[in-house]
Amino acid sequence: MRDLAAELAEIDRQGLRRQRRLIDSPQGAHVLVDGRDYLSFCSNDYLGLASDPRIADAAAESMRRLGVGAAASHLVSGHHRIHDDLERALAKYVGLPRALLFSAGYLANLAVVTVLAGRTSDVFADRLNHASLNDAMLLSRARCRRYAHCDLAALESLLAGSIAADKIVITDAVFSMDGDIAPLSGIARLCERYGAWLVVDDAHGFGVLGEKGGGALRHFGLDSAHIAYVGTLGKAAGVSGAFVAGSEQLVELLIQRARTYIYTTASPPSLAAALLKSVEIMASESWRRQRLVELAARLAGSLELRNRRLLASSTAIQPLIVGGNSEAVALSDALAMRGILVPAIRPPTVPKGSARLRISLSAAHTAGDVDRLVEELQRAEAVLS
Ligand SMILES: *Cc1c(COP(=O)(O)O)cnc(C)c1O
Repeated sequence: MRDLAAELAEIDRQGLRRQRRLIDSPQGAHVLVDGRDYLSFCSNDYLGLASDPRIADAAAESMRRLGVGAAASHLVSGHHRIHDDLERALAKYVGLPRALLFSAGYLANLAVVTVLAGRTSDVFADRLNHASLNDAMLLSRARCRRYAHCDLAALESLLAGSIAADKIVITDAVFSMDGDIAPLSGIARLCERYGAWLVVDDAHGFGVLGEKGGGALRHFGLDSAHIAYVGTLGKAAGVSGAFVAGSEQLVELLIQRARTYIYTTASPPSLAAALLKSVEIMASESWRRQRLVELAARLAGSLELRNRRLLASSTAIQPLIVGGNSEAVALSDALAMRGILVPAIRPPTVPKGSARLRISLSAAHTAGDVDRLVEELQRAEAVLS
């Protein structure tokens, strides 16, 4: 029988034990942890909508009218009209024919990859893709190859060498731990040339990139019947859930085949009501995206450390590469002592030797918040080095 205590001790020995913080306030630029106020650069609430009262009101109003639970899966009797309204609004927002709601991005990724790929398919995936895409690829039982991060030549040579009838390329649009943007135009061109489907996970670009925040496909002006777009709704949208968007047939086939759609309870209708409000706000309040761009430029322009560098990133995700696990944790701890939360991200989430602070910006932050982060980082770095 496995010795769980020994496994946990080994996790401790490697300095990899993770702890959960208890948050006692709404999410926002500031959060309350154990009675103390922290300036937070931890969340994926990029547009500052997670605690928007208009969204909370929409959820509360819907909950009073429709109750809480959806009580069944979408295919049985859990598919409320408000879910359907939301799917239409999401499709319109990202500029694709149809969209299908899921309870989480993780489940949406499992769905789209396992429906498009099977035992006889070849799947090609960026080496830095999100864990949920990697799991999806394994679950599909396809032949899986990973290509060097954003390397079009490497991808092309894999595609050219494939004799599979079904080829699927899978990539994050914005990489969650690096903040860089995939060369989607080039990837889409290769997919077209070699007859491959393209699955784009836009968890960090939906609401942030493109005209009115319509996402990575809009950012690049991409339009193809063979792109499956995954957007998540717990990050910039500030609520919960996810969707897959694409052609009528893609969505129809997902409804028929996707096990993570069929065999799970529909999410509460009040979440759909909240999300309808959120999409309306995301599309209309462009100042939130403008604020993000300004804050990212301010951070990159003012942070000067001797031994660390910010990765080049034009998105809300601004990683500061530290290197060693314990150094990254020490820097994160030093900031926490000074009332600032920035998570240290360690392997296996990122490659060995590239432990980092993942600074994520939000439209809820002010320029003064970023200045305080820069000041405290410089102070902490001076003490530790
Ligand atoms: C967060 C994330 C997911 C998972 O989405 P959830 O809705 O949180 O399950 C998938 N892909 C990427 C790139 C993500 O960052």
